Amino acid sequence: MRLILLGPPGAGKGTQAAFIKEKFGIPQISTGDMLRAAVKAGTPLGLAAKKVMDAGQLVSDDIILGLIRERLKEPDCRKGYLFDGFPRTIPQAEALRAANVVLDCVLEIDVADEEIVRRLSSRGRDDDKEGTVRKRLEVYRAQTRPLVDYYGRWAASKDKQAPRYRKISGLGTIEEIKAKALAALA
Ligand code: AMP
Repeated sequence: MRLILLGPPGAGKGTQAAFIKEKFGIPQISTGDMLRAAVKAGTPLGLAAKKVMDAGQLVSDDIILGLIRERLKEPDCRKGYLFDGFPRTIPQAEALRAANVVLDCVLEIDVADEEIVRRLSSRGRDDDKEGTVRKRLEVYRAQTRPLVDYYGRWAASKDKQAPRYRKISGLGTIEEIKAKALAALA
């Protein structure tokens, strides 16, 4: 299984990623987790990324694509992979496609904006302060949300390489969403 989890920040991608990863025995590739690890380790990349992340902005496509390129070389990716929080922009999606990274499915977890603000404001990460949350949502709408159309249109095309597109609601209990997510991937 090779898939992308798509959806706004706070939709529950990380939570569902853990279930999907276990079910299919594949690595979860979270660019957010990779960046937070770099911040914690205090690497030059981490120091630069922290400023951008705390402002609710996106780290540059070049940096992200470099991280992904290296990660996909690891042997555990031969079994499949789950991208969580990547791609986040059309250029990132196009780079993935140009590199012929195979995808079986794009799974969208859909949650309305007001619910996202409510959830994120109570989460307590450094980039979850209310102003940053609103900025991240704005960035999501402008830069990441277009991927819904991008992958939806690709799935509807005749291209045999196109991943299928599935959408589930991110409302309900964790167990309910898990059941919907696994059913969508079956
Ligand atoms: P996340 O944990 O996925 O919500 O990511 C936290 C923050 O890391 C985001 O708000 C961005 O600043 C940065 N980030 C994570 N993934 C990406 C990506 N694919 N492209 C650009 N920035 C990213």
